[in-house]
Amino acid sequence: MSNQDRKIRVAVVGSGMGGLCVAIGLLKHAHLDVQVYEAAHKFSEIGAGVAFGPNAQRALRLLGKETEEAYLRQVTHNQWHEERNVWFEYIYGMGPREGELIAVPKNETGQSTVHRAKFLDEFVRLVPKEVAHFGKRLERLDDEAGAPLTLHFKDGTTAEADCIIGADGVHSAVRKHLLGENHPALDPVFTGSLVPIKDAEAALDERFAKNSTILVGDGACIMTYPIDFGETMNVVAINSSYKKWEGPWVQKVAYQQIANEFSEWGPRAQKLLKLLDNPETAAWAMFDNSKVPTFYKGRVAMLGDAAHASTPFQGQGAGQAIEDAYVLSSLFAAIDTLDQVPLAFQAYDKVRRPRSQRVCETSREAGELCALRLKGVNDDPKLFEQNITWRMDWMWHRDIAGERAEALGIFTALLEDGKV
Ligand SMILES: Cc1cc2nc3c(=O)[nH]c(=O)nc-3n(C[C@H](O)[C@H](O)[C@H](O)COP(=O)(O)OP(=O)(O)OC[C@H]3O[C@@H](n4cnc5c(N)ncnc54)[C@H](O)[C@@H]3O)c2cc1C
Repeated sequence: MSNQDRKIRVAVVGSGMGGLCVAIGLLKHAHLDVQVYEAAHKFSEIGAGVAFGPNAQRALRLLGKETEEAYLRQVTHNQWHEERNVWFEYIYGMGPREGELIAVPKNETGQSTVHRAKFLDEFVRLVPKEVAHFGKRLERLDDEAGAPLTLHFKDGTTAEADCIIGADGVHSAVRKHLLGENHPALDPVFTGSLVPIKDAEAALDERFAKNSTILVGDGACIMTYPIDFGETMNVVAINSSYKKWEGPWVQKVAYQQIANEFSEWGPRAQKLLKLLDNPETAAWAMFDNSKVPTFYKGRVAMLGDAAHASTPFQGQGAGQAIEDAYVLSSLFAAIDTLDQVPLAFQAYDKVRRPRSQRVCETSREAGELCALRLKGVNDDPKLFEQNITWRMDWMWHRDIAGERAEALGIFTALLEDGKV
């Protein structure tokens, strides 16, 4: 509980997965006044599947019973019982070994996915309406020593806060405040759509339609997994040739473009990609931002994609945002006074930056692996299997509660050092 005579005002900017999770964590503490500022006019998310590894699920459980229950209401697993612990089956999608199984990494939860929009709806219910402010696109911050922070929004309004958590995604305005305009990003093609499972079953075999698979091939891969309790298959085709991206970050894409890019792939890939021949198929730009020198400055910090956007090859972007939210909200529970906020941010940065940046790096490497271009592995199935196994194990078996304890230990040590 705070020694202050008033609550500490925390502004959360952005209400995606990271912003909602951190807000839900912070709202549990009576000494904090939490306000959420979201650019959109309502809570919204593009509709697609999001896969959660066991680490993300543990973080949701640690964050609270209500977040775990929300997740459990929405989760879809592989549809076949014997595939329940399978993350993905990695299979050659082209060339002389087309159809050959390379690796089957497994974990205690297997492939666990949610429909992004439906999952976010569950979390929205956990944030009181009076603290959620919509149509508030942050443009800039005033950050003068000795004065409250002022948030300036695009609609001309302002708000005050004692500290700010930027959860405003890959094009983060908070990151620009912390680090300046320029940050590294990669932008290859990332195309996907949702396909009714019955259509997938008609075109492919049942096992393939109902369980998670990654077809790998020269320079690209195609992921599929069930969502919507097995009613829908999420299909994502990724060309790793890192072409220059032009136009909006999400845009409709013609099937012919996909067909051209995958023209040399085998019959299974062709049947699968034909399912993307619909007007809803969209292409996303991917980002990879693993190099920022800090996640905070003074009373302003960032989390989730704002801090460490990653490629999707290990299904970890949302998971990392949730891990951030758990550690950061735990630190805020321990804050007594306003001047301790920068120390909490420092402890958060020290623990979360190495982990999340390493996740970005291994995700990038996993993209190279799935494109059969990872140095030292290339097209060797045995080495592929070894590589994907240790890579995923490292990611999944992180002790997130241990990270929280470590962050709290660092925070306590900073307090004892007399920094405040
Ligand atoms: C197609 C696709 C598939 C993916 N699949 C997976 C997966 O399987 N598993 C996984 O773990 N991750 C996946 N990811 C990544 C994952 O979606 C992100 O890592 C995660 O959503 C990041 O959450 P976030 O809250 O940090 O950012 P976001 O979800 O981007 O949320 C940012 C929020 O901030 C708001 N905002 C932006 N700018 C401002 C501003 N200036 N002022 C106020 N508000 C602002 C936005 O409107 C938005 O609501 C995928 C991503 C994509 C695009």
